[in-house]
Amino acid sequence: VTEMPESKCDVLIIGAGPAGLMLAAWMARCGINARIVDKRSTKIFSGQADGLQMRSLEIFDSFGFADRAWKEANHMIEICMWNPGPDGVVRRSDRIPDVPVGLSRFTQIVLHQGRIERFFLDHIKKHSNPPISVERAVLPETLSIDKSLCDDHSSTSYPITVKLRHLTEEEATPAQSNGSEVRDGLFRSNLTDDDTDDLIRKSQGKEGTAEIVRAKYMVGCDGAHSWTRRQLGFQLEGEPTDFIWGVLDVIPITDFPDIRMRCAVHSAESGSLMVIPRENKLVRLYIQLTEIKPDASGRADRSQITPETIIKAAQKIITPYKLTYEYCDWWTAYQIGQRVGTNFDHSTRIFLAGDAVHTHSPKAGQGMNVSMQDAFNLGWKLGLVLKGICQPSILRTYQSERRRVAQDLIDFDHKFSRLFSGKPAKDVLDESGVSMAEFKDAFVKGNLFASGLSVDYGASMLIAKEGDAAEQGDGTDVSSSSKTRVVGKQELAKNIKMGMRFPSYKVLNQSDARPWHFQELLKSDGRFRLILFAGNILSPNQKSCIDAFCDSLSSSSILKPYLYSTIQILTCHSAKRTDVELLRDFPDILHPFDERSGWDYDSVYVDDKSYHEGYGDAYGNYGIDREKGCAVVTRPDQYVGFVGEVGGEGFKEVERYFGGVLVGSGN
Ligand code: FAD
Repeated sequence: VTEMPESKCDVLIIGAGPAGLMLAAWMARCGINARIVDKRSTKIFSGQADGLQMRSLEIFDSFGFADRAWKEANHMIEICMWNPGPDGVVRRSDRIPDVPVGLSRFTQIVLHQGRIERFFLDHIKKHSNPPISVERAVLPETLSIDKSLCDDHSSTSYPITVKLRHLTEEEATPAQSNGSEVRDGLFRSNLTDDDTDDLIRKSQGKEGTAEIVRAKYMVGCDGAHSWTRRQLGFQLEGEPTDFIWGVLDVIPITDFPDIRMRCAVHSAESGSLMVIPRENKLVRLYIQLTEIKPDASGRADRSQITPETIIKAAQKIITPYKLTYEYCDWWTAYQIGQRVGTNFDHSTRIFLAGDAVHTHSPKAGQGMNVSMQDAFNLGWKLGLVLKGICQPSILRTYQSERRRVAQDLIDFDHKFSRLFSGKPAKDVLDESGVSMAEFKDAFVKGNLFASGLSVDYGASMLIAKEGDAAEQGDGTDVSSSSKTRVVGKQELAKNIKMGMRFPSYKVLNQSDARPWHFQELLKSDGRFRLILFAGNILSPNQKSCIDAFCDSLSSSSILKPYLYSTIQILTCHSAKRTDVELLRDFPDILHPFDERSGWDYDSVYVDDKSYHEGYGDAYGNYGIDREKGCAVVTRPDQYVGFVGEVGGEGFKEVERYFGGVLVGSGN
């Protein structure tokens, strides 16, 4: 009997879809020894998710690859609503902006998931040391967790043991569902059974090597049929509906006037259609298949669904306009199901992210975004705990923060799908139909949610806002010191909300006058930021406040060991740029000197007019007093953890915030 090879890693990621790749990106940026495995032999190349929210683009920008998506994608600017007129014929009834105006420097864009995976893969390759690359055609077969080791955070404790099997090419490449020439998504859609079990059965007795991996942490990013979730015995709660939708990615040939706009088309009798204009002349059509009904078990017979049945259904909805195609890039069909996981982690050692803990209809373009954002929330926490910088208890905020987002998503999707799939009301007295005014209203409100910018994490050791940390999320106490935890002063920066992502306005670099969106400075490199809104630095009173704050900073036994490596300091003052001198007016600690590279010119900014890009009015927009300023702490994922004073007890409170989070900081 040959012994199975054994190895160790700090984090084992199962699944290399958007969630798994986001997690691997954090592991790369934090320098963590991680492995990522996927049962399929390749990444995906077409189809699947295509909508990128403003928040996802902000996140991509923090890693440094938003520009690639921005250039390649189609930009979504306007939504047109088409509804039956009094004669029953569809006509354009409304236009609204695709996303709420003025919230982000980005708008929503569309580009297929395969490209997003490409950007991640390139980023991970560039930044990982030790190198991390997706190990494909690898299937986990067994999982065990040694509970006695879960609370042992020493470097030699590996509570998780997984057996991995390396598949043959044939096993790892799922067959196309119906032999069609065009790639389809049926094997990954909600209509298919889990193919993981089939793979395990098929290959029994076949060749293929196996290995044992011992890990400190594991993250199941293995999609809607998550093997990891099933091993843990966790459930998804919720129901499938009987709405069946087809999806076609085609280059349309049509006289429909709004084919390059995002459209919601409700026909009087033939169902609904969503038009999503895409890159390279492609258009995605989401079409309700009213003629295909689920069987007694509640599942649709997918052999009845082909690109032809889908386009026929679209033609009926869009009549009197013509719609055909010569080129189809991808297609699929799915049945809407809205489900949320009961648990997002096991003993804060094994986590679930993405479709593994929430599934819902794709039309609102949320799945990929929310999945990536789960992993974006978790990755830095794991990285900083593994590096011995943050207390392991911060990992408990993953479930309390993300489960609520998943629940909100399902509620949103439930409402949106019902309104989208329902028949339009004939008139105000038609109670069985969907009122188009209600639909438009839901769209406008839904747009804020769908932008990803309304996420608001509850009070915890990481979010110093009012509220009982113990009552957040699933009811678990997420703070070891919730009774004594610091509570910030929101009123000092009314629009930099604790719990929400740091909003962005333009500021200028004090040293070279270049305008920057403030959020661009908050890179995803695993560091917290202490942002000193220094106020009017030319006022003697304020200057002495800033000096005192900086003196405390340089002598703080809690913060000093972490300065720059874990806590970056950024300053933004409100005096006139040309009256201020970096070296004369700011303590050295705000722009430190390095023997080899001189002064740091990239840490001090000013809220002033630019030559070419107008005036950001950052203090005004953030709701900060121009004289007195304030201190803000952002987490490595740009969410605001703390807002407090620069003077008075301000520094002590910043210290208390970090004291509650960092290891060995004497709390
Ligand atoms: P997945 O992308 O499903 O990735 C899971 C990965 O894990 C896969 O690579 C899989 O091979 C691997 N895996 C699974 N089981 C195992 C195992 N046992 N061992 C090893 N590896 C395993 N979302 C949007 O945001 N916008 C959209 O416009 C949108 N449109 C969609 C259209 C369609 C037709 C579909 C089907 C989905 C759409 N979605 C959309 C949803 C989106 O695709 C998913 O929400 C997203 O891919 C989830 O990412 P994930 O990483 O959690 O899971």
